Amino acid sequence: RVKNETKGAAVFFDSSMESEALARMATEQSLRLAILDKRFCCAFQPKVDIRSLEIKGIEALVRLRNDDGVIQAPGTFINLAVELGLIDELTHLVLAEIMKSIDLIDETFGAAATISINVAAKQAGNPEFMRAFARAIEETGCPTRFMVEVTEDAFVAKTHFQDDILPMFRALGVGISIDDFGVGYSSLSALADITADEIKIDRSFITDIHKRPRSQGILRAIESLSEALGMAVIAEGVETFEELAYLQAATKIRYAQGYYFSEPIFLEELQPQTRTSSDVRGASSARPAADA
Ligand code: C2E
Ligand code: MG
Ligand code: MG
Ligand code: MG
Repeated sequence: RVKNETKGAAVFFDSSMESEALARMATEQSLRLAILDKRFCCAFQPKVDIRSLEIKGIEALVRLRNDDGVIQAPGTFINLAVELGLIDELTHLVLAEIMKSIDLIDETFGAAATISINVAAKQAGNPEFMRAFARAIEETGCPTRFMVEVTEDAFVAKTHFQDDILPMFRALGVGISIDDFGVGYSSLSALADITADEIKIDRSFITDIHKRPRSQGILRAIESLSEALGMAVIAEGVETFEELAYLQAATKIRYAQGYYFSEPIFLEELQPQTRTSSDVRGASSARPAADA
């Protein structure tokens, strides 16, 4: 009987799965709408030289602005955007958004600051997208200011990334960054085959680094290998003075990023005339509510 079969099926689709599916549909819907309406914005987080405390560059971190004004962190929608095939369009929007704000970026961070854009591993493995993206960066007229951040997975995947795509970006003068290094699938020895300008050590190694001898050992290994290979090293996720002090005193790591220096910030909220809150710190913080 039909009724029984329906009932049987319902056993495997309980109410928590139902609400999960509904939540996913809602996110998918709002993501599609947000792209149509270009309801995205970028927060920028500086990369700091830990000796001179000068800003070396900035990283653009995308956020979604809901209808109700709530800001959504990329952790809640990037994977979905990749799954739905919307990520390429999103990345082009990020570049457009950067170029729209380029004067303000220069005013805020200096015209010499490099500008980093994140690219998902799947995008990096798609030559068509990467060619179009390289062209778009070339058309900005300032390709040498840009860096592309890709996780190490992109380098180990069997794609033409390393052989065909990277040389194209290098020819334009676009820098290549290995993001979240140490938590992906590649080994330390795989670094030897990677042609990149910069390696970003994942936050998980930096947290409490001053108290963790094993992480300190890993840091030393990454450091000497990158030195031998001519890659700059950035420590991600520096949150405390103790972590920074360790990096300064015990390593030759030159750059860092993290809440200790600055959270990702919205440029327009640095403009005094657009400040709506008396709490300037809160108003200019683009740290997302949800963790990524
Ligand atoms: P990511 O590229 O590794 O960026 C660093 C993330 O760590 C950011 O989270 C940043 O806000 C956060 N962070 C920075 N400093 C600290 C710190 O001191 N402590 C802690 N706990 N967190 C810190 P966010 O903005 O939520 O971005 C998450 C990820 O989403 C990024 O990781 C990146 O992989 C991805 N993403 C962001 N924007 C884009 C984009 O335009 N395209 C693509 N494909 N991915 C993006
Ligand atoms: Mg990144
Ligand atoms: Mg990272
Ligand atoms: Mg990350």
